[in-house]
Amino acid sequence: MKNTLSFLLNDIKDKGNYREIRYIRPVCSTTVIHEGKKYLNLCSNSYLSLHLHPAVIEAASSAVSLYGTGSCSSRSVSGSIDIYKKLETDMARYKGYKRGLIFPTGYMANIGIISTIPGEDDVIFSDELNHSSLIDAMRLSYAKKVIYRHRDTVDLERKLKKYFPSRGKAFVITESIFSMDGDVAPLKEIMELKKEYGFFAIVDDAHGTGIFGRKGSGVEEYCRVRGFADIHMATFGKAMGSFGAFVLSEPIVIEYLINRARTFMYTTALPPAALAAAQASLDLVRTDLSFKDQLWSNIDHMRSGLIDAGFDLKDSIGPIIPIVVGKDSDAVKMQKMLMAQGFFLQAIRPPTVPSGTSRLRLTVVRDFTRRQMDDSIEAIIAAGKKMKLI
Ligand code: PMP
Repeated sequence: MKNTLSFLLNDIKDKGNYREIRYIRPVCSTTVIHEGKKYLNLCSNSYLSLHLHPAVIEAASSAVSLYGTGSCSSRSVSGSIDIYKKLETDMARYKGYKRGLIFPTGYMANIGIISTIPGEDDVIFSDELNHSSLIDAMRLSYAKKVIYRHRDTVDLERKLKKYFPSRGKAFVITESIFSMDGDVAPLKEIMELKKEYGFFAIVDDAHGTGIFGRKGSGVEEYCRVRGFADIHMATFGKAMGSFGAFVLSEPIVIEYLINRARTFMYTTALPPAALAAAQASLDLVRTDLSFKDQLWSNIDHMRSGLIDAGFDLKDSIGPIIPIVVGKDSDAVKMQKMLMAQGFFLQAIRPPTVPSGTSRLRLTVVRDFTRRQMDDSIEAIIAAGKKMKLI
């Protein structure tokens, strides 16, 4: 086995696709130390910088004092501590759904939904750039899979006409804002198609929650289709600065997941600290819109600096900024240039993104100072020129 694995790893290395773990010590919400050197973190998903907010930390530590460090069991046995109930209810209300169910991670939530709800006679229509957790989930489903072109509702409709199941149900699955491209799914058009064709919509709002829409409840609010999905999923591990995920839907769907979703049933419940932190973040973002407003002001600053310099940021609009370099090795080269200048980020390569579209995925966070963003823009421009991107 060792020989085979070493052959396969060498092949990965030859393609410039080798992944290494870089251990870091966070200094604050924007700065990390890696191998003794200080870096500005340009790839954190804690968009609202809440993971170090005093109220969130206080809530997590109080929960530890009160309930201890573990939940001690799975949700259906004795792991459903009371914090769950309020958080599930509040999350559902915030996003315009009837009932919520917390899963240990977004990956597990997606696997749970998609391997459980669509069945053998059903057809899943999936955006070609959907997240790996959705792809893996579809692999575990007995339903037939049809891939439609990225954000292309004309292609989706063509495929709905061609492949709509005669006996079973149809499901359309999309991310709301795409995690590697930062562009928004055409949710309004999908809702119109849903009315016409009668499919079920599954929306993954992992990167939209807390940020998009006037109240920050997510991309559905931003697209004016709040609560339109049949199953809505989002996570606590990004803007909410904690860990875990939740599914929102009709009570009957949630009850079915409690009874049949194996990634819900056969795993230990989240620890109290993660839940209390998520609740505290939710309380902050739904009462104080300045968190998201400050983030958007930083997003505007960073984006205009890069766009003015000539970068093509594609259709991205939020805190996720893709700088597509192309070849895997070129993306790594540009990443190393920026690391040498004190900017911490990773080159994103296949299979995370399609071959030939390797990129730097920058993220903007609320705690960035103007100075930090201006320094980043300057360094990215210099590296972009060397790579002939601008
Ligand atoms: N969906 C999307 C769109 C994601 O980006 C991620 C995480 N990168 C997940 C699901 C999985 O969430 P988690 O990290 O909580 O497993």
